[in-house]
Order: sequence, then C-alpha cells, then structure tokens
Amino acid sequence: MRLAIISDIHGNLEALEQVFKRIEAEKVSRIVCLGDVVGYGPFPGECIRRIRTAAEILILGNHDDAVIGRTDVRDFNVHARAAVRWTREVLTEEDRAELAIYRIDADLGDVHLVHGSPASPRMWDYILSPVDARPNFSAFAGRICFIGHTHSAAVFEMDEDQIVQSRRVTRELILSSHSRYIINVGSVGQPRDSNPDAAFAFYDDERARVEFVRVAYDVSKTQAAMEKAGLPHFLIKRLQLGH
Ligand code: ZN
Repeated sequence: MRLAIISDIHGNLEALEQVFKRIEAEKVSRIVCLGDVVGYGPFPGECIRRIRTAAEILILGNHDDAVIGRTDVRDFNVHARAAVRWTREVLTEEDRAELAIYRIDADLGDVHLVHGSPASPRMWDYILSPVDARPNFSAFAGRICFIGHTHSAAVFEMDEDQIVQSRRVTRELILSSHSRYIINVGSVGQPRDSNPDAAFAFYDDERARVEFVRVAYDVSKTQAAMEKAGLPHFLIKRLQLGH
C-alpha cells in the first residue's frame, strides 16, 4: 500500500492543487486527509468539494468542527475566529453537511489516522514533544499514527524499550521494525516551520518508508484571494513566511 497523507489544507486551493499534481505523478493507492480542510484560507467550499472526490478517508479537524458550530470558537485566537465566521458565511448547506460526516479517527491496516492526538481526539490536544507523545502510544494499536494539527512535520518514535524520542524530519524516514511511531505530516495550506511550501507525506508499507514532501505553489495568488475576501492581514502575511 502506498498512501498519500494530507492535512491542514485550510481553504488554500492553490496549494492543494499543486499537492494533487505531485500525488498524481506518483503511484499512490489511496489519499487520506487528516482534517482542517477549511478555516484561514479563501476557498473553503472548493477545497471541501475537491477533497471529497480525491480522498478516501476524511478525518475531522478542529476548524472543520468549529465551522459547523460544534467546537466553540472561544477556544480560537482572534484571527482564527474571524476566519471561522467568514467561512461559515461562504459555505453552502451541502458543504457544511459534508464537514459534519468527517470521522474523528480511522484505522487503515496498521495505520491510525487522527487530526490532533489519538488519546483525546475531541480535545484537540497538540503533540509537540516526546512528553506529549508518550501517553498517546497506548491509544492506538497499530504501528504508526499519522497526525496533523500543529502545521509542522514531526516524528516521535517509541523503541522496544518504550523510550519515546523525537527524530529530526528529513526527506526520508525508514521505519524500524522494532519501533512504533507518531508522525505529523505538516500542513498543505498553512505551514508553520518557516518554509511556505505545502507539506504532506507518502507512506509505503512494503518498503517501511515515509517520505516528507514539500511542494511550492503561488502564495501570492492565495494572498490576493484572501485580501479580496477581507480575511485578517495577519493570516495573509504569515503564508509567505511559513509560520
Ligand atoms: Zn489546522
């Protein structure tokens, strides 16, 4: 099985289209999406519709949940809140119904899929360190859990002695047969690791290999559309900085 794992698109259609181009060029059996299809960006409805046809498994993110009124926007910062309100206004009834059927988590063979954390998927906790990651390893049965949510790629490895360590993210990760992993694939539509290029990952279970991919896209196009939509300036600026 060769899997493309995308997350945190955040209404950035321009970034998503470039990512799909790259995925189409590879032999991928399935595309899965780890949530936050909407919020922040200027094309939420278009992203929902594009992903509905392309991805086989759709996981719910906190922004998706907030847009349909289930997660409280008071937990969001002022810019995110403004974007959630704007997104609510532009989505159709059908788009909102689509968000409402996204799954909180899923399993695909040896792979667990969730937006934020396997231990408390509805709390939207962030896994940022080995200390955060540690208790999450007992919350899924398989070999790997793929996550998004922080907008930065990360690898947490638990070895045979149950020691959890953070591994530096390089282009390629070869999985050890003695370890289990929590792997963050980064964000398609709003990366926060000081690199504005869209981020996602491929997973090949036969080769036990994860490839972290970056794809350049026309950031200024997304920014112009955000400007036109009247989205917060802070959100427009951060795209080109990648944070
Ligand atoms: Zn997000």
